[in-house]
Amino acid sequence: MAHLTNTAPTAELQALDAAHHLHPFTHAAGLKDKGARIITRADGVWLQDSEGHRILDAMAGLWCVNVGYGRRELVEAAAAQMAELPFYNTFFQTSHVPAIRLAERLAGLAPEHLNHVFFAGSGSEANDTNIRLVRTYWEMKGAPQKKAIISRWNAYHGSSVGSGSLGGMKGMHAQGGMPIPDIHHIDQPDWWSEGGDLTPEEFGRERARQLEEKILELGEDNVAAFIAEPVQGAGGVIVPPDSYWPEVNRILDKYDILLIADEVICGFGRTGNWFGSETMGIRPDIMTIAKGLSSGYQPIGGSIVSDEIAEVIGGDEFNHGYTYSGHPVACAVALENLRILDEEGIVTRVREETAPYLKKKFESLADHPLVGEAKIVGMMGSIALTPDKASRAKFEDGGALGYLTRERCFANDLVMRHVGDRMIVSPPLVISTDEIDLLIERARKSLDEAMDEAERQGLLRAAAA
Ligand SMILES: *Cc1c(COP(=O)(O)O)cnc(C)c1O
Repeated sequence: MAHLTNTAPTAELQALDAAHHLHPFTHAAGLKDKGARIITRADGVWLQDSEGHRILDAMAGLWCVNVGYGRRELVEAAAAQMAELPFYNTFFQTSHVPAIRLAERLAGLAPEHLNHVFFAGSGSEANDTNIRLVRTYWEMKGAPQKKAIISRWNAYHGSSVGSGSLGGMKGMHAQGGMPIPDIHHIDQPDWWSEGGDLTPEEFGRERARQLEEKILELGEDNVAAFIAEPVQGAGGVIVPPDSYWPEVNRILDKYDILLIADEVICGFGRTGNWFGSETMGIRPDIMTIAKGLSSGYQPIGGSIVSDEIAEVIGGDEFNHGYTYSGHPVACAVALENLRILDEEGIVTRVREETAPYLKKKFESLADHPLVGEAKIVGMMGSIALTPDKASRAKFEDGGALGYLTRERCFANDLVMRHVGDRMIVSPPLVISTDEIDLLIERARKSLDEAMDEAERQGLLRAAAA
């Protein structure tokens, strides 16, 4: 069997990578100058690169490797399923055991009224499905004008044309003709960056009320759904003030529109419960799932849909589907992953033990001179870097400090991500307390080094208020 790792010196692989591989969310010129970091293997929370460095992965890959790397059971589940039935589709009144069992399992885990699963290959695909599901639902209920979907600026819902339109990333909208029509955005509940003189609680209510204003502006009869991550992930782990979700709930109860909770990051234990909706106290009509569903060992996503929506949609043929909807190997791996999360008590341990431990350590970073707020829910957290804590000032050179800190983290064998001047963690859920200590130690060292370097480069200046 051909092994694909370490087949050439790093420099040669980097040159080939730059010559032929177009990367997602990457500036090609920068990549060519520096060369990609080439990851060759991984175990637990540890990555290894082609130069033999052992790196603590505080991002669980891309928020997805919930059970950690190197789980043989998942390898064996994939191999056994490939040997038995590597592929069959779920179109045209056919099915297979892995899809049936996974749908049953997800219906059991999800809130009581969500019992129906439409499978996709990714979170982006699932959110594209959701656009069509909610609009088709209203069409079949005799309200075809209910098309508008309300989302939030700085939300992330995927990178396809539909899901990228749902998302509120202005840099993405600027390229390639997005957003598609009938998607509307309101402001996000990011108190640190946008709260001004309001208290967090006042600000949370004010941002929630934008939803009501938008519904009234568009007309209740024209709005199909509101979509939101329980806690925004890729936008920088924005933890909303406590007042936010209760006020959104009040508004959603008042108007006849659907709620899509995008659980792609928050789902499967990340917030200390099976779903972020439980943690944040929200009652969705649809949940988007992907990432932690398979711990990233196979690409799979889906929509878990309410009884009411499934019944209405079931009134006609739904002209939608992906070749790999309910892919048997991906379903078999997801099932085994859910078994591990459940039987090893990983979600419970996060809630009761490791997340509280991480919270205490992570929030202690707020005493660092560069760090403004440190916010964390379960195993997803972020720190906001600032030149002046008291005024919550931004840097004149926005994002430069975040980038510098991320580079120092890399140099200290720690993967943390930066979103602008926020630094993010979202480690595998199996991280131990000793590994959490190491994570915080390396983060603090990286912050110190970034601050020294920023001082040398004159980057610590605040932007004009
Ligand atoms: C990653 C992500 C997506 C998109 O999932 P892909 O599998 O990358 O298509 C959608 N929503 C949220 C909240 C995500 O974090």
